[in-house]
Amino acid sequence: MTTAICPGSFDPITLGHVDIICRAAEIFDEVVVCVMHNAAKKSPMFTLEEKLSMARRAVEGYKNVRVDSYDTCDGLLAEYAKRFEHPVVVKGLRAASDFDYEFQMNMINKCLNPAVETMFLTASERYTFLSSSIVREVAQYGAELKGLVPDAIIPDIEEKAKQWR
Ligand code: ADP
Repeated sequence: MTTAICPGSFDPITLGHVDIICRAAEIFDEVVVCVMHNAAKKSPMFTLEEKLSMARRAVEGYKNVRVDSYDTCDGLLAEYAKRFEHPVVVKGLRAASDFDYEFQMNMINKCLNPAVETMFLTASERYTFLSSSIVREVAQYGAELKGLVPDAIIPDIEEKAKQWR
């Protein structure tokens, strides 16, 4: 079985992420959305539990998609990928600026685990500007989140933003 791994911090998950995940679900047997976290690193807006809960609601209804998490203290993505028979890391490319970093990560993953392949899907035009950090900023100004993140998780983000203001 070939498994697409869609890794990220998902702080929070956006419609740009969901777009890549759903397109991967059309191509691969199964998709695992992997919320990467590192308890020792910079403070994210959402806790791991909150990120997982939002990601699960965002992909609800997609039968071959599930959500998992991985603590990078336990290793890099290449290590996580070892639990799958045929792992393919699927990343979205928004702009040329994403490419340099992603190309480097791909090389490192391949070095550490030669069984890992990486595939890039180009971001859909309407989401090329969208990132979790933009969503966090919009939320902190109390602006409209519709069209940026799944409707089901808008209340979670608005609630958290109030606490951050
Ligand atoms: P961020 O949105 O801050 O880049 P992540 O680290 O959670 O957050 O992103 C994980 C991956 O999801 C990115 O490396 C990229 O491949 C993909 N991605 C993020 N936003 C988009 C988007 N708007 N369109 C396509 N792919 C995206």
